Amino acid sequence: MSTLIENLKNVRACIHAHKNEHNAAQTVTLLAVSKKKPSSAIKEAFDAGQTAFGENYLQEALDKIETLKKLPIEWHFIGNMQSNKTREISTHFDWAHTVDRLKIAKRLSDQRPSHLPPLNICIQVNIDNEPSKAGIPEGDILALAKDINALPNITLRGLMAIPKPIDTNEANNNDHAFARMQQHLSALQAQLGGKNSSDKNIGESNIDTLSMGMSNDMGLAIQHGATIVRIGTAIFGERT
Ligand SMILES: *Cc1c(COP(=O)(O)O)cnc(C)c1O
Repeated sequence: MSTLIENLKNVRACIHAHKNEHNAAQTVTLLAVSKKKPSSAIKEAFDAGQTAFGENYLQEALDKIETLKKLPIEWHFIGNMQSNKTREISTHFDWAHTVDRLKIAKRLSDQRPSHLPPLNICIQVNIDNEPSKAGIPEGDILALAKDINALPNITLRGLMAIPKPIDTNEANNNDHAFARMQQHLSALQAQLGGKNSSDKNIGESNIDTLSMGMSNDMGLAIQHGATIVRIGTAIFGERT
């Protein structure tokens, strides 16, 4: 068995184990982050049953999407969002995880081709208030979510974050970044509707996604309700 296939099996087993320990009914989707890795590696993972892939760099991603266009891959954009990239993202991707401005969301909605279903969107939260990272402050989530939820050609699915490396001593602390993200998703579902919302009259329940957890912290993220983990290195090896 190749290293990649073995890694993929190990990551799946790890997700499964953490999920069962926490909540066996939870859906956790593995997003394979293939940035800086060749199309041949994506094809190999696809042949082993992996269908969702995440890319950060637009031009690199478009080249791979073109090369692999015969495969029914679900493409997720997880890189930095800029206005001049929205048309290509809206045309070629199924998901965008890093939306942090209404202007960007409006462009994605306006530019979504009419023959495609709405683009799935997550709002990126700068959960540790790091100046180097994109995302909105925690306090702005609800207002932006309400505005985005009203746009026609995108579907707000939930929240995404890239926390600082989490000290394992903090893992039992309900105030660490993953725990707070879980609380923010619940609050959003309570306000806008979602599968855990108790008010069934609240409208469409499309808010079901917490995109968090990478190679080094996927277990803790799953414990705190991650529904999409974004895993690169543990599947494809170190990037150069
Ligand atoms: C690169 C990247 C990942 C994957 O990180 P690994 O540590 O390689 O698993 C996940 N999410 C985002 C936003 C990334 O840029």
